Amino acid sequence: MTDCPLRHLIPILGDQLDPASTALDGFDPTQDRLWMAEAPEEATHVWSHKARIALFLAAMRHFAEDIRARGWPLDYLRLGEHPHASLSAALGASLAQARPQRLVMVRAGDWRVQKSIEAAAQAAGVALEIRSDRHFIAAPGAFAAWARGRRELRLEYWYRALRRQTGLLMEGDQPAGGRWNFDADNRKAFGPAGPGKVPRPQGFPPDSVTTEVLHLVERQFQHHPGRLDRFDWPVTPTQARDALDDFIAHRLPRFGDYQDAMWRGEPWLYHSRLSAALNLKLIDPMSVCRAAETAWRSGQAPLAAVEGFIRQILGWREYVQGLYWLWMPDWLGWNALDAHADLPDFYWTGDTDMACLRAAIGQTLDHGYAHHIQRLMVTGLYALLLGVEPRQVHAWYLAVYVDAVEWVELPNVLGMSQHADGGRMASKPYIASGKYIQRMSNYCAGCRYRPDQAIGPAACPFTTLYWAFLDRHAEHYRNHPRLGQQVRNLERMPTEKRTLIRAAAEELRALS
Ligand SMILES: Cc1cc2nc3c(=O)[nH]c(=O)nc-3n(C[C@H](O)[C@H](O)[C@H](O)COP(=O)(O)OP(=O)(O)OC[C@H]3O[C@@H](n4cnc5c(N)ncnc54)[C@H](O)[C@@H]3O)c2cc1C
Ligand code: SF4
Repeated sequence: MTDCPLRHLIPILGDQLDPASTALDGFDPTQDRLWMAEAPEEATHVWSHKARIALFLAAMRHFAEDIRARGWPLDYLRLGEHPHASLSAALGASLAQARPQRLVMVRAGDWRVQKSIEAAAQAAGVALEIRSDRHFIAAPGAFAAWARGRRELRLEYWYRALRRQTGLLMEGDQPAGGRWNFDADNRKAFGPAGPGKVPRPQGFPPDSVTTEVLHLVERQFQHHPGRLDRFDWPVTPTQARDALDDFIAHRLPRFGDYQDAMWRGEPWLYHSRLSAALNLKLIDPMSVCRAAETAWRSGQAPLAAVEGFIRQILGWREYVQGLYWLWMPDWLGWNALDAHADLPDFYWTGDTDMACLRAAIGQTLDHGYAHHIQRLMVTGLYALLLGVEPRQVHAWYLAVYVDAVEWVELPNVLGMSQHADGGRMASKPYIASGKYIQRMSNYCAGCRYRPDQAIGPAACPFTTLYWAFLDRHAEHYRNHPRLGQQVRNLERMPTEKRTLIRAAAEELRALS
């Protein structure tokens, strides 16, 4: 740190690695400095996967190299080379020493971090300027304005508003192909023959900067979950762009068809693997959407695939970001289904005889990755049906995925997957029996359980817990437009079977 009077100190957080950030607008290297810190607390406040820690640190160090190459002043506090446990403590010390006129930043991706930085600035008596985030496609404040006065905040209408605003996949004021949504075409399973040869995604072998980080993480966080020997995530903007190009050329055309399908030993299938690069801001979401649209317009990919992909980014990604800032911090405390069980230990090891969970958790530990349906309809579904306390489920998801940043993880977990918000986000809990997993994957074929059985020694725990969930919440969902029929199916069951299901579900809970 120099002794020259400082105008702006500009903290760049691990998920803000965007050289075009508004925080750098008007940057003057003669009076401003950037500030970055590797804080142990960010790896330990949830028990983070080694690959998640490594990805953030590797991308941060590459970003720092880029900044230095521009000749911009940067204070970079490396893990193990400073005494501070938390970001806010490190920042507080730097503020006390540098006494900038102003701290300039883009809002953090995590409510907890944002509040701690605000507290550090206040404690140091330094003015804090929070600039709008141009990484997101919707204008700052647009979601809150759209939400105001609406009874329901459903994704579909927000998505349509953004389609109109951006012109993505629009023909004049009409959606391309005459439909806003090709969701119904995007739910195919592979069938018994399986996916055949799936194009292998381009990987990015660690360079010397990343290798140093991998050794550091292996040393410093050796007891954390996950492994590092398969680490090949993009850690720079160039690599992120290459990953996008590879996806568009080889996997996007079939993304739509097999978006929801799962297959043993195939972690990636036709997914893009871009979430971490997007969330760390190595690549801009609008350019990703435009590249997909161009693939459709040039005949490289069908409309249903491209619409399905763009809906994930322009729709879901923007939507959950809007909801997060609308409902935090209250969201963390909601537990509408009154769920209090502990998260089973096997979530951290994959050591279970349920083949679907073993596969989804196994690849999560191997790569820090599972695709959307594995997260929603395998790990998320089991926790929901078992009645795990939402905050424990949240802590697990925040820890184990390389793309986990709270603004995107929390709404997906507490809203979409665990229904802890009582339906503010999703109109119904996503529940299903083992038969859904059987239809969408080949997991059940290699499992000791039978997805069509709810009781008995071969009963599939998902199926048992599915009926037990309906039984527990029958009163609440009897007249629900989409779940009422499932409750009526339950109520047609003989009383003795219902009693046995309740007892079997209790046993599963006791075993967890
Ligand atoms: C319980 C649960 C937890 C999740 N936690 C996270 C998380 O921590 N971080 C995260 O980025 N995504 C999360 N998701 C959303 C989704 O599972 C991942 O974005 C996706 O699996 C990432 O893989 P991909 O890049 O190959 O995605 P693709 O299937 O190729 O999709 C393309 C892109 O769309 C975006 N996207 C897709 N689905 C969603 C969604 N539901 N919400 C927001 N963006 C979406 C992502 O940026 C993704 O890269 C979660 C979903 C569930 C159900
Ligand atoms: S039978 Fe049940 S536990 Fe086994 S893989 Fe299928 S859904 Fe999972």
